[in-house]
Amino acid sequence: MPKETGDVVIATLGSHSALQIMHGAKREGFKTLLVVRRDRLEFYREFSHLIDYFIEVDEWRELCSSRVTDRLMELNAILVPHGSFIEYVGLDCLLELEVPIFGSRRLMQVESNIREKMSLLREAGIPTPREYSLDEEFPGPVIVKLPGAKGGRGYFIARDRREVLARLGDLVRKGLLEDESEALVQEFIVGTPAYYHFFYSPIMGRLELMGMDIRYESIVDGLRRLPPELAEGLDPSFVVVGNIPLVLRESLLYKVMEYGRRFVEKAREKTPPGAIGPFSLESIIRDDLSIVVFEFSGRIVAGTNLYMNGSPYSTLYWNEPMSMGRRIAREIRLALDTGRLEDIIA
Ligand code: ATP
Repeated sequence: MPKETGDVVIATLGSHSALQIMHGAKREGFKTLLVVRRDRLEFYREFSHLIDYFIEVDEWRELCSSRVTDRLMELNAILVPHGSFIEYVGLDCLLELEVPIFGSRRLMQVESNIREKMSLLREAGIPTPREYSLDEEFPGPVIVKLPGAKGGRGYFIARDRREVLARLGDLVRKGLLEDESEALVQEFIVGTPAYYHFFYSPIMGRLELMGMDIRYESIVDGLRRLPPELAEGLDPSFVVVGNIPLVLRESLLYKVMEYGRRFVEKAREKTPPGAIGPFSLESIIRDDLSIVVFEFSGRIVAGTNLYMNGSPYSTLYWNEPMSMGRRIAREIRLALDTGRLEDIIA
């Protein structure tokens, strides 16, 4: 096990929140490494002052090849996973990877299974949208989530059970879905979205609220640009194109923190060692100010890119420019200083 900051290289994939992670690691005095696809190399080279080593690949999955992992091991790299890991590299590769990973692989595994994910949230006592079975009548509107949908692509909103059955039947006939029962039918929560960025520190034993954002999604956020009669009947896809900053009414913060704490406790009990470092709860807030969580991410989310110099909330804990990327590097440094690296690597 490496002992000093100078012995460790912080590594990630060139995508998602890589620049923030590299920037934060440099601020904490680490060497950095980026595994990057050849077609993006020129772009990332613009930031060579933040990146000490590059490993070029043709495909993301090469992360798991011995050429790449041997080099990472040789440099004492700790990999910081982000949203592109599961999406582009795949869960199987991530779970088998020999290289130390900052965070909990187990939690990322739960995250990739929509039913397990929702049950962890429910068991934590966090309010979630109601789920309906196709055998029962249910009130609309509902949102129908198909397996393997990425970034909300392939979700649809339906008025009632008849419409859900007709559309699922159509997808099965076209061979796009194996069986109707694979779809998850959820109450569509009417309200405003809010995504909370948490950091759980096993070293300090505390939960920090690092920031929050709203996703800017195509085409749902663009529908209002059309006259209503033209928008009628269009499927509002939820493809994330960017993020918008958010602060909440202060009176809602205690509830957000309470749900964050419940999540940490339940994750520790159900998927030990539980949350390590960044995670996010993704919610809709109704007009009675109740918060309904429809999703979590067990790693850094791209909305944290808004706060490369810290957020209004991270300032309250740190009083220095503390991005999520830097907070990860700070935790690794604290773990090295106290000989507890195994507590943050799973
Ligand atoms: P990602 O992997 O990027 O997080 P995803 O494919 O898991 O995306 P979600 O984030 O679950 O998709 O949902 C996409 C969007 O759909 C959300 O941003 C939210 O606006 C909306 N949404 C999801 N579930 C609900 C719900 N129950 N009620 C209302 N809106 C919802």
